[in-house]
Amino acid sequence: MQTLAGQVAIVTGAGKGIGRAAAAALARAGAAVVLASRTYRDCEAAAEEIRSAGGEAVAFGADVADYGQVERVVREALARFGHIDILINNAGVIEPIGYLQDCDPGAWARNVQINLVGAFHCVRAVLPHFLERQRGVIVNVSSGAAVRPREGWSAYCSAKAGLAMLTQAIHLEAGALGVRVYGFQPGVVDTDMQVKIRASGINEISRLPRESLANPADPARVIAWLCTEEARDLAGQELTIRDPALRARAGLAG
Ligand code: NAP
Repeated sequence: MQTLAGQVAIVTGAGKGIGRAAAAALARAGAAVVLASRTYRDCEAAAEEIRSAGGEAVAFGADVADYGQVERVVREALARFGHIDILINNAGVIEPIGYLQDCDPGAWARNVQINLVGAFHCVRAVLPHFLERQRGVIVNVSSGAAVRPREGWSAYCSAKAGLAMLTQAIHLEAGALGVRVYGFQPGVVDTDMQVKIRASGINEISRLPRESLANPADPARVIAWLCTEEARDLAGQELTIRDPALRARAGLAG
């Protein structure tokens, strides 16, 4: 894989799961990484792991649902590194899990506020900088739920479908101005989100055995690869880790 040396990446939801693995993969590829999630100590632990391995990383506690907190991360990242090259919009929540008639309206809205509005907040905060430099990469961590409804996941599916449209909107407005954006569906991955899904027992995904789930390192590798110039021709697309051609190009086994 091409190097990302000299580049600076912001990863949201970097304290655990796919985000944490993506931060590590980006650091291994040479990028300095800014890790953010609501739980500062998780991000700091992940950042310390990167630093111990010789990489550069800084952690922030921030809620993507709050634009002021997102702006602060971007401002402080710029103050520290002088530029930002990559945004990984990974922060996400599955809850509320439940049938439409049972969902708490506040919890439903909160899901959209994190999964969709939170991603917009991060784009809004970095895009002026990307446009000024006429360069930048955004990976929106999507889901199969963006294109296929699942029982009990109405908020999550709706938010991820909105995120897939946000990917297209970014490509339409900024694609010709040097900004590359990708929607990326990571597959079914062994993280805390899947622990909550299994506990719900509400649909077929919740009944998948844990042993069948992917390791977060797999989608992390593809995310880091998408940030390289090698992926330029795929800009603007909604991609899935299930695509054999994408897997091969990113260096994943069949
Ligand atoms: P996870 O293990 O639950 O991790 C989610 C991360 O997002 C945590 O670090 C969490 O930290 C952070 N986060 C949640 N709400 C946040 C907020 N408001 N502001 C900032 N950070 C927030 O989940 P995951 O499975 O790694 O999921 C990562 C992404 O992949 C999500 O977008 C998810 O929808 C997507 N995805 C996952 C799967 C899967 O099978 N695991 C499949 C398809 C798509 P705090 O709670 O401390 O903030």
